[in-house]
Amino acid sequence: MKMLAATLSILLATSAAAAPGDADFAKGLLKKGVAFDTVKGRGKVPAYAAYLKTVLVDGGFAASDIAIEPVGETANLHLVWKGSGKKPPIAVAGHMDVVEADPKDWIRDPFTAVEEGGYVFGRGAGDNKFDVSMVIATLVALKAEGFKPGRDIHLFLSGDEETEGVTADLQAKQAKAAGVELLLNSDGGGGGLDDAGKPVGYSLSAAEKTYADYTLTVVDPGGHSSRPTATNAIAALAAATARVAAYRFPAQINEITRASLVAAAKETPGQLGDAMRAFVANPQDATAIAMLRTDPGSVGQIGTTCVPTMVSGGHAPNALPQKAALTVNCRIFPGVTVASVRGDLERAVADPAVKVAIGQEWVSTPASPLRPDVVAAVTKAVAAAHPGITPTPAMDAGASDSVYYRALGIPSYGVSGLFMKESDAFAHGLNERIPVSAIAPALVHWRALLTELAR
Ligand SMILES: [Zn+2]
Repeated sequence: MKMLAATLSILLATSAAAAPGDADFAKGLLKKGVAFDTVKGRGKVPAYAAYLKTVLVDGGFAASDIAIEPVGETANLHLVWKGSGKKPPIAVAGHMDVVEADPKDWIRDPFTAVEEGGYVFGRGAGDNKFDVSMVIATLVALKAEGFKPGRDIHLFLSGDEETEGVTADLQAKQAKAAGVELLLNSDGGGGGLDDAGKPVGYSLSAAEKTYADYTLTVVDPGGHSSRPTATNAIAALAAATARVAAYRFPAQINEITRASLVAAAKETPGQLGDAMRAFVANPQDATAIAMLRTDPGSVGQIGTTCVPTMVSGGHAPNALPQKAALTVNCRIFPGVTVASVRGDLERAVADPAVKVAIGQEWVSTPASPLRPDVVAAVTKAVAAAHPGITPTPAMDAGASDSVYYRALGIPSYGVSGLFMKESDAFAHGLNERIPVSAIAPALVHWRALLTELAR
């Protein structure tokens, strides 16, 4: 009797706990994950990685298949799920770190997941702990069901995506060495909901612009302000600034932006929509280019852009300036080098007194080809989670972990399972949140995507 009661209570306990494929299980992972304040400098990423490893081990993965590699105060997690080797390995990526959040500014503690009004609030609830939790829950569920992958599946979770990007660089090299032929990045792409909560579209991110800062500097001997000289550092820099602001880089198009402009044109009424269609038909169409350049949402999609963002100069109200400096921030079209943009800026400025130097720069990468297998799998996954929605290829303005993989020739795709309203998107901002109702479809998304590509 005693024995039976014990068995019964175990059974009850097991049935009460959520199974790995359930939304409640995934929500539990997300809420526990938010509690690790994995902000740069706090040293909490290794603890979060260790927690995720226990979830994987409890889910049936061998501890020896999961490596946690310390990198300074942060860490990487790498799981290898061995497949039959029918096809070359694939990888899934995400990041464990989050952007800083000051509790003073938040309505709720950013590092306690609070469920309220149909949302989970917390720093990282969206970026990127949502998809990290969904991927882990999916892998554990597939493992429990006896799924046998036809190829190795690598899971690479990095530890400093929001800051240095050192950890993803290491993982990209490990992926290359393991023969990974494509990367599914959970920290990119994703779907939109309208104000009524109806899914309206999905972006499959296949390219990123390159981020680069340039510094324009003018130096001058200076002197007393009562004795003006022929040259003036501030005046020279001001003229250069005006020329940079007026300069337009040539319009460009690629396979990704062509597809996204065709899709955007269908949703865009009036002259702007007409200009998108005209530009796709003829990327040299000057009228269309001029129109698209007036729209902040389109200008970055048709070429490299550079804008003056910071300025400094002079040292006293009554002295001729000895130095003036300008920061120019550029978002460079895929395939264009950071060095060639420096040359373009120099030519635009056309003043040898203005020195143009490269400041902060990210890896510059080509667009990833729209592989038919990836497009088919993402199409299937998006339709399974949100019937009637088809993915549109997209080029992002940001700099995600994908750049390190693309730089090594591994095509990379942003394929988040998260659908959100524009008005709910608070990644990096205050009161970050995700709708609880996004969890179940995201699990459908990741399951379809992984089983389709790793059959
Ligand atoms: Zn992110």
